[in-house]
Amino acid sequence: MGTATLKKGKEKILQSKHPWIFSGAIDKIDDVKQNGETVIIKSFDGAELALGAVSVHSQIAVRVWSFNSDEKIDKIFFENRIKTAIALREKIIDKNSTNVYRLINSENDLLPGLIVDVYNKYLVCQFLSAGAVFWKKEIVGILSELLKPKCIFERSDSESLVKEKLEKNVGVLLGEEPPELIEVKENNLKFFVNIKSGHKTGFYIDQRDNRKLLGEFVKDKSVLNCFCYTGGFSLYAKSAEASHLTNIDSSSEALTLITKNFELNNYSIDNVENIEGDVFKLLRKFRDENRKFDVIILDPPKFAESVSQVTKAARGYKDINLLAMKLLNRGGFLFTFSCSGHISQELFRKIVDDAAIDSGRIVKIIRQLTQSSDHPVLSSFPEGLYLKGFICETY
Ligand code: SAH
Repeated sequence: MGTATLKKGKEKILQSKHPWIFSGAIDKIDDVKQNGETVIIKSFDGAELALGAVSVHSQIAVRVWSFNSDEKIDKIFFENRIKTAIALREKIIDKNSTNVYRLINSENDLLPGLIVDVYNKYLVCQFLSAGAVFWKKEIVGILSELLKPKCIFERSDSESLVKEKLEKNVGVLLGEEPPELIEVKENNLKFFVNIKSGHKTGFYIDQRDNRKLLGEFVKDKSVLNCFCYTGGFSLYAKSAEASHLTNIDSSSEALTLITKNFELNNYSIDNVENIEGDVFKLLRKFRDENRKFDVIILDPPKFAESVSQVTKAARGYKDINLLAMKLLNRGGFLFTFSCSGHISQELFRKIVDDAAIDSGRIVKIIRQLTQSSDHPVLSSFPEGLYLKGFICETY
């Protein structure tokens, strides 16, 4: 087995049980033949500390598989880790009402670089680290044996692969080619999802709990859903009897799918307005027209892809939050989110607070929100928490 020897004193980083070892902490890597293979991580003076996967082209040079250096990294190891991840979902997902959920959440399920999402009878996987790619065949075999899916589809097309210098791969890994749209249910609402080319693995599964919560705030209310994608929040608003719904997204494909999703649930599209356009511009237009709403949802895409984009992203978040606060009726509610990992919860809170001051409104934060429970955050991996949100009452 190859070895990754840490620089003097760097063995301390393993004590925190954070699964990433950056290249700057490594003195030398020896005897590695293939990207992603398992290496033993040693202290500068040769003590065996942990086992990990080497990523020869990445700044994250090693991702730890196990902090027990005596463990064997083999098919059984992955089977056990996958079974543990499945066991958590057995406890937290009500399969009678929901058949779309995250089964394996990468580092947070002790499987760095591996994402597996369940879409009804289909599994969608992302192999985002050299180590996950190295074990792909075994992982697909285990998933197939344990879950017997109709198809295991690979969606390794995330931009993070560029940083890892890994190839993008999209296609069937096992089973039959999936249809263009597959039907799933989330809290008994039905959705069509395009797992082959939809965003992420097809659907924003991480918002499930927050979408459900929205239902408590919208009865007989006018709702504006900004960045609506295929209507996740919109369907919940409709099912909870919102009186009027305005959906905005820049993608015409996403809006077409909203209409299909309404039909799928036998919901009328009376009082539903779909607008294709730019949220930044449309919020200004609504302001100029003096339009008002009772509930506004802001669930934008990741504005900060890297640390260098944080300042610009913060301006963007502040802009839309300020505009949205101004568009709310007195006593109205804002559901506001940031999914940028580089924007901390504290910073996002500050952005919302600043927007509140500049909007001239009185804003009360009544709830802090985060990603759904099937996207756990490993205690030693704060990066696992990426989705932050607030419900704000606005006067
Ligand atoms: N809330 C959604 C997920 C939102 S994803 C859900 O629950 O499913 C972000 C969406 O914002 C994408 O659909 C993308 O097409 C859209 N988008 C990105 N930039 C935009 C912009 N400037 N104006 C409007 N929509 C935008």
